[in-house]
Amino acid sequence: MSTSSGKMVYQFGDGQADGTAKDKELLGGKGANLAEMCQLGVPVPPGFTITTQVCTGYYNNDNAYPDGLEADVAAAVKWVGAKVGAGFGDKANPLLVSVRSGARVSMPGMMDTVLNLGLNDETVRGLAERAGDKRFAYDSYRRFIQMYSDVVLGLDHDAFEDMLGEFKDENGHELDTDVTADEWATLIERFKALVEEESGEPFPQDVNDQLWGAVGAVIKSWQSARAITYRKLNEIPDGWGTAVNVQAMVFGNMGDTSATGVAFTRNPSTGTRELYGEFLVNAQGEDVVAGIRTPQNITEAARIEAGMSDPSLEQLMPETFKELTGIFDRLEAHYRDMQDLEFTIQDGKLWMLQTRSGKRTAQAALKIAVDMAEDGLITKSEAVARIDPGSLDQLLHPTLDPKAERDIIASGLPASPGAACGEVVFDSDEAEQAKAQGRRVILVRVETSPEDIHGMHAAEGILTTRGGMTSHAAVVARGMGKPCVSGAGAIHVNYDEQKFTVMGQSVQAGDIVTIDGASGQVMRGEIPTIKPELSGDFGHIMKWADEVRRLGIRANADTPTDARMAREFGAEGIGLCRTEHMFFENERIAAVREMIVADTDTQRRTALAKLLPMQRADFVELFEIMAGLPVTIRLLDPPLHEFLPHGEEEILEVASNMDIDPEVLRARVAELDEFNPMLGHRGCRLAVTYPEIAEMQARAIFEAVVEATGKAGTAPIPEVMIPLIAGRAEYDLVAASISAVHAEVEAQSGQKIEFLCGTMIELPRACLKADDIAGAAEFFSFGTNDLTQTAFGISRDDSARFMNDYVNKGIWERDPFVSIDVDGVGELVKIGVERGRSVRPDIKLGICGEHGGDPASVHFCHATDLDYVSCSPFRVPIARLAAAQAAIKDA
Ligand code: PEP
Ligand code: MG
Repeated sequence: MSTSSGKMVYQFGDGQADGTAKDKELLGGKGANLAEMCQLGVPVPPGFTITTQVCTGYYNNDNAYPDGLEADVAAAVKWVGAKVGAGFGDKANPLLVSVRSGARVSMPGMMDTVLNLGLNDETVRGLAERAGDKRFAYDSYRRFIQMYSDVVLGLDHDAFEDMLGEFKDENGHELDTDVTADEWATLIERFKALVEEESGEPFPQDVNDQLWGAVGAVIKSWQSARAITYRKLNEIPDGWGTAVNVQAMVFGNMGDTSATGVAFTRNPSTGTRELYGEFLVNAQGEDVVAGIRTPQNITEAARIEAGMSDPSLEQLMPETFKELTGIFDRLEAHYRDMQDLEFTIQDGKLWMLQTRSGKRTAQAALKIAVDMAEDGLITKSEAVARIDPGSLDQLLHPTLDPKAERDIIASGLPASPGAACGEVVFDSDEAEQAKAQGRRVILVRVETSPEDIHGMHAAEGILTTRGGMTSHAAVVARGMGKPCVSGAGAIHVNYDEQKFTVMGQSVQAGDIVTIDGASGQVMRGEIPTIKPELSGDFGHIMKWADEVRRLGIRANADTPTDARMAREFGAEGIGLCRTEHMFFENERIAAVREMIVADTDTQRRTALAKLLPMQRADFVELFEIMAGLPVTIRLLDPPLHEFLPHGEEEILEVASNMDIDPEVLRARVAELDEFNPMLGHRGCRLAVTYPEIAEMQARAIFEAVVEATGKAGTAPIPEVMIPLIAGRAEYDLVAASISAVHAEVEAQSGQKIEFLCGTMIELPRACLKADDIAGAAEFFSFGTNDLTQTAFGISRDDSARFMNDYVNKGIWERDPFVSIDVDGVGELVKIGVERGRSVRPDIKLGICGEHGGDPASVHFCHATDLDYVSCSPFRVPIARLAAAQAAIKDA
């Protein structure tokens, strides 16, 4: 035991509570919201929450509970008993409780729950008597033994299910609901014998032992492998811990006037304003999410749309339905967000068991935020702040081409939108291995469980044959933004034979299928896709984001296709045009190679003269597409070696095409070979050795300005960028040759050509000497790819081999090539900014490394007061949103 500071147990129930929704850190999301619902007068079964501090204290103190916890829990149990008029362990009138986890943020299905706790050989008789329903009491007891044995005692869940299956066969029953009270009592004896055989101890009959067993299991489940994986995937700190909620049981399995369900106040797939949910009559909560029975719709409209024959809750229990929808409306208005709720109806009386902000698809998130802002429930800024920038990725990716032929082999529920295609795999470990080999897979399971989380993460999409829209597969897939089709009941999976069959066809592991999470269709083969729609709710959020952000957003674009896409996504210019990408194109590579193997300046200039018109045409096209927006063009950066053939066969082929002796080419390849090309003859160093290359590029840029001005009537203003500068002298040398060409083109064309000349800042020395460099350079663009590489001394091309080890061992929180290392590389950027501005206060500052599209790095760029970020076209909307969120946070 150890001492703890502060209150460890918070009670709630009957219109009063010790906590509120603000206490999430201490009470976890579930506990805080249960307290809040009580405060609002919503019917909630009484209970108490053991704080997250108890969990963290337990781990910090050699797995010991703090002093006084036992007494506090005992007092709280007594209080709950008094509220419901029952006693814990009371033979005649037993109090039963649920014990559930509840972290600060919801981690669906990741941690443990025990229901019906407090039942033993004696209290079960009392329950039967008081409920007037022996069958219900014994059914509850057997469920409790099953769950407790699984969660607390760690026994194999399937052994109990198998025993139940055999027992039903013996007695000629098909459904659990057919099993009689006495039969349940017989099965319970077998279950208990199984527990004793497997664990060496009898099933605990002392209700306090049961309670502490369950509390311990919940706390330990924080450190279960699946919870740890989930935290890692969702960046949830290990130090938060879970709260434990102990709550009086209410029963949805007390006959046909009882039910249990889950609901969302809006449709979590599309965001449409409609009550959306499922329930089961005469069932307990876990039956709905486990996907064992197919749940019924709550509303009549949904039932009709789904073509279900089983009645809706609206039809079956109209009064309760009315009360329920009233509560849903109140909770949504109170929390000002879409709620995900759990409820139970016990013998006609409604109880709310949980409310929380519901997980939703990116599309739904946009719609809900826009609708709520337009209704005045939230502000536009709140709407913008609520969208996870990373989730936009889901929307920016293709969906199935509606015109494409589809060989539909099955249909299921449209559980999570988006289209996915890949090889069929039936096992989560295999999915993970396949992904590691670069293969795309669709994970096909009868149903998924939290053990499948890594497989779902690795798969392109998920297909299940059982379970509804709120099944594990559906909820988790939506959270991950993965396409998912659930409950495709016509499909029969045969794990042993690694195949599934449907409508007389058989699909083997490795066969290609496509799933459409928006329609629920499953198709053979790969189906073509189309580009996403960028108007509607997406357009609204982007417009509101643009109204508040301060950072400019440009794109890294080298081709007309990229540039057009960048504009469609809202880029305000090109922040980086890597001209070498233009060199690689088919017909040009010959001229580039001719230039590289040239022996003399004259030969080199002849080859460059062939490249000039092609480069000029490229720039004209880019200027036209960008229509007056800034275009930053970087001079050639990679080592020349990259443009030459490598294998002997290729050398022979290229030499023959070039009509030169293979020996000449071989010699040039050998001459240019470098041990460390990334730190070798590249960047401005090329321009130092071969000024004619930079001159040709500068000429192409300025002549393109003249040509584009002639066509459009207005002159583009290019930003000419010199790569990999380490100091002022290098800069001056290259800038001088650019200026000379500029003067020549002006003289030849008779046109005044405006331009900016600046540099990449991508070496630590350049950051340190930024004041010197800014004396001449008119802009800086931080190349954080190379800056990360050179600051860490880690090759950006080789880091993947060990990066995971660094992240898994917590040495780095995230891969510094993905999210900027604020402490180190960020510090260098800040030094560069400060020193640059000290000499040239109006210097234009941007970033064009991959970090420009990473939300956390965008926040850093905002805080560092850069003028813009530049990122790949697909990430432009993400950067726009992240920049707006940074500004909102600042306000
Ligand atoms: C950089 O180094 O950050 C950069 C944008 O240049 P490249 O990736 O082309 O080296
Ligand atoms: Mg670079």
